[in-house]
Amino acid sequence: MSDCLFCRIARGEIPASKVYEDDEVLAFNDINPVAPVHFLMIPKQHLASLDDAQAGHQALLGKLLLLASKLAKTQGLEQGFRTVINTGRGGGQEVFHLHIHVIGGGNIPPMVKRN
Ligand code: AMP
Ligand code: ZN
Repeated sequence: MSDCLFCRIARGEIPASKVYEDDEVLAFNDINPVAPVHFLMIPKQHLASLDDAQAGHQALLGKLLLLASKLAKTQGLEQGFRTVINTGRGGGQEVFHLHIHVIGGGNIPPMVKRN
């Protein structure tokens, strides 16, 4: 997916504030943060959403989750953090390259408002 925004960031064609990088994964700060710490983790391989993940992606998905916890600590989120994966238009996904939001710091409100 040569014109995918996050593929272009992964290739270094569009600048990003990198948090972590290895041969399979890139993490970078969200351009429009909703909390003091808000970074995104992506597989470098293009995968449009969680709905496109196959059994062969199991190790990569597990790696991303384990890394989320490690990177949250390096970003100062010792007290915990929120992970969000928006999937498809019904899930509010805007960029169709699988990404995990890692959010924390400050006041993190409940995800679901109950009456
Ligand atoms: P989602 O709604 O889950 O698809 O989230 C897409 C996220 O990508 C949003 O939080 C945007 O602020 C973020 N975003 C869009 N463009 C960039 C960019 N060039 N660099 C960093 N984050 C971006
Ligand atoms: Zn992509």
